[in-house]
Amino acid sequence: MSETSTSQIGGDETGVFSQRTRLSSDLDVDICVVGAGLAGLTVALCAARQGASVAVLEGRQVGWNASGHLLGTVMPGFALPLPDLIERVGFDDARELWALSCAGAEFVRANASETSMPGLGFSEGALEVSNVDGGDDLIRRLQMLNEDFNTEVEGWQVGRVREALKTDRYFHGIYYPRAFQLDGRNYVHALAMLARRAGARIFEDTPVVSVDASGVRKRIVTPSARLRAAHIVLAGNIHLGAPLRRLSDTLLPVWRYGGITAPLGAQLAEAIAFPGSVADSDGIDQFRIVDGDRLMWVSPETTWAARPQRFASVIQRRIRSIFPQLGGVDITETFGGVTGQTVHGMPQVGQLRKGLWVASGFGRQGINTSAMAAQLITRGMLAGDDRWRLFSPFELVWAGGRTGRVAGYAVGLWTRGRSAVAGTLARHRERLRLREQTREREREARLAEAHRPAAPDRPPAGQPRSRRPQPPPPSSPA
Ligand SMILES: Cc1cc2nc3c(=O)[nH]c(=O)nc-3n(C[C@H](O)[C@H](O)[C@H](O)COP(=O)(O)OP(=O)(O)OC[C@H]3O[C@@H](n4cnc5c(N)ncnc54)[C@H](O)[C@@H]3O)c2cc1C
Repeated sequence: MSETSTSQIGGDETGVFSQRTRLSSDLDVDICVVGAGLAGLTVALCAARQGASVAVLEGRQVGWNASGHLLGTVMPGFALPLPDLIERVGFDDARELWALSCAGAEFVRANASETSMPGLGFSEGALEVSNVDGGDDLIRRLQMLNEDFNTEVEGWQVGRVREALKTDRYFHGIYYPRAFQLDGRNYVHALAMLARRAGARIFEDTPVVSVDASGVRKRIVTPSARLRAAHIVLAGNIHLGAPLRRLSDTLLPVWRYGGITAPLGAQLAEAIAFPGSVADSDGIDQFRIVDGDRLMWVSPETTWAARPQRFASVIQRRIRSIFPQLGGVDITETFGGVTGQTVHGMPQVGQLRKGLWVASGFGRQGINTSAMAAQLITRGMLAGDDRWRLFSPFELVWAGGRTGRVAGYAVGLWTRGRSAVAGTLARHRERLRLREQTREREREARLAEAHRPAAPDRPPAGQPRSRRPQPPPPSSPA
């Protein structure tokens, strides 16, 4: 699936990448986690830290899918826009959910600093830019985030955005100083290492083929061994398959692709003078500078699996259309993964039946949200905390199977098309406005010139100044 070659932590001197164990004998544990992506590994880490015995079963390898192939931006919130969240659950619960998502991001930050490993490429700050000239909208969102949701954000005017990003494609922006980015591939392996250190056991090449969650001790079957556990956490994203087909059918699989350019030298810093990641508000392009002078760019999406290299030229065209001054850049690496999107846009977090938990459906914003899910589920399993119920309004809804994929793709194309048109219109209006302003200035200058008092006639040297004709005195009334 992936052709990314993001560097590994310390060149794998720690050996964490090569420690691969397959489950070959039966096991009895407190918690069995299905899936070693961000969600499963974070549950394993949290639960093992609380002293539970944990086994993670992974059908392939740690982070082989989306969790190891991402842009690496860690933002507050969810894929579902905030106004929609408020509409769905009301203001108070939306605030609480938002705060949980921020805590998820802070948990990732703490892990990243704890690993103190090279290769995480940690950097601060993210910028969300608008494709259309929507200053009023921006002010409303800023107020909401700052005042109602207690989130540190700054509004950037068009001029400031264009100082940071030399393109006329973007207008206003929202700067999130507490957002950050890291190397996703290295982070998922760092998580695995932390989980192992905390006592969790991770078995790769060990697909779960069925689960029986009916008894107090649940049964989990793999091709080579069986497990018994008090809790099962399903963190398999769209690949879960046989163990609970009905659950994977509630996710619409969306493949996302990214690419990394060859080193671009000093011209990259001239075009992009912003160290964090950038996303446009329509969710079409996301990018950031990596390795000093290379551009990592995520954009294309499909609802079927394709080889990431196929999208190198698409990415190249996207870069060229936003930053034409960079010319036709070489895309030297491509990567991709499949995300699971829910019908309502919120992750699936909670207990399906006693002892059977789900942490899935993180869509395109999975780093902070999977950490949040792991924290909630661990507290639910080990401390009886039922705050995971905040997710109850977001039920498991069938994603429509094959028809859903076709519809999802059509909607995606339509949304992108509509955003592109809106962006073009916004730029067109901006050009008209600038032209109108220039005309107005020229007209004012001409008027000012016409009304300027004429310079007094200077008589030739030595001659008396000629007197201007004076208006006749007003005639006195008869
Ligand atoms: C190109 C791209 C860029 C992205 N950029 C960002 C970003 O910048 N910021 C952000 O927050 N998010 C981003 N995302 C989204 C993020 O990557 C995902 O939301 C997140 O990785 C999902 O994690 P997961 O653990 O749920 O799923 P996965 O990573 O898919 O992990 C699930 C694992 O479960 C295993 N599994 C499934 N079924 C079984 C079974 N029956 N038995 C055993 N194992 C099983 C699978 O093999 C897999 O390894 C991006 C995604 C992509 C594709």
